[in-house]
Amino acid sequence: MPYSIFLPDETATLQLGQRCASLFHAPTVIYLQGDLGAGKTTFVRGFLRGLGYLGNVKSPTYAVVESYQLPEKNIHHFDLYRFSYPEEWEDAGLDELFQENSICLIEWANQGGDYVPKANWIIDFQHQKEGRCCQILPQHSTQQQELTLWQK
Ligand code: ADP
Ligand code: MG
Repeated sequence: MPYSIFLPDETATLQLGQRCASLFHAPTVIYLQGDLGAGKTTFVRGFLRGLGYLGNVKSPTYAVVESYQLPEKNIHHFDLYRFSYPEEWEDAGLDELFQENSICLIEWANQGGDYVPKANWIIDFQHQKEGRCCQILPQHSTQQQELTLWQK
């Protein structure tokens, strides 16, 4: 069962990200899905805030990945939108970032084809007339159990 929520404005997206700080545990891989401007990067900004990171959170559109070293884990935020071909994943050596203590959040994962590690979670954002609809989709039974506990 996915978790569905309507996000009326940017603040709601930030708050959901913040709440997810207690949902995602390293190592984990999260795909962020949705059109341009759907709120994927905003969600990551809230997530990092929820983990106590107070600095600037840039969109990784140009850099491909932005990394944040926190006391017990590393957060890697990818955006593969500008990939011309999936092999760029290998050229950039991105596999190295998938460690026991990493949480990897990936925008436009499909652009990396089969090189991209499989998702433990998918978070889907859909534009509405105003605001966004969001679904958190656990990909395995472990994540489903974590989601059920988190919702209580
Ligand atoms: P993406 O990374 O999916 O391309 P961004 O996170 O950069 O999208 O967000 C694009 C714009 O959408 C930003 O201006 C942000 O403030 C706005 N936004 C984020 N969440 C919402 C929401 N729930 N309702 C309305 N606007 C939102
Ligand atoms: Mg983005």
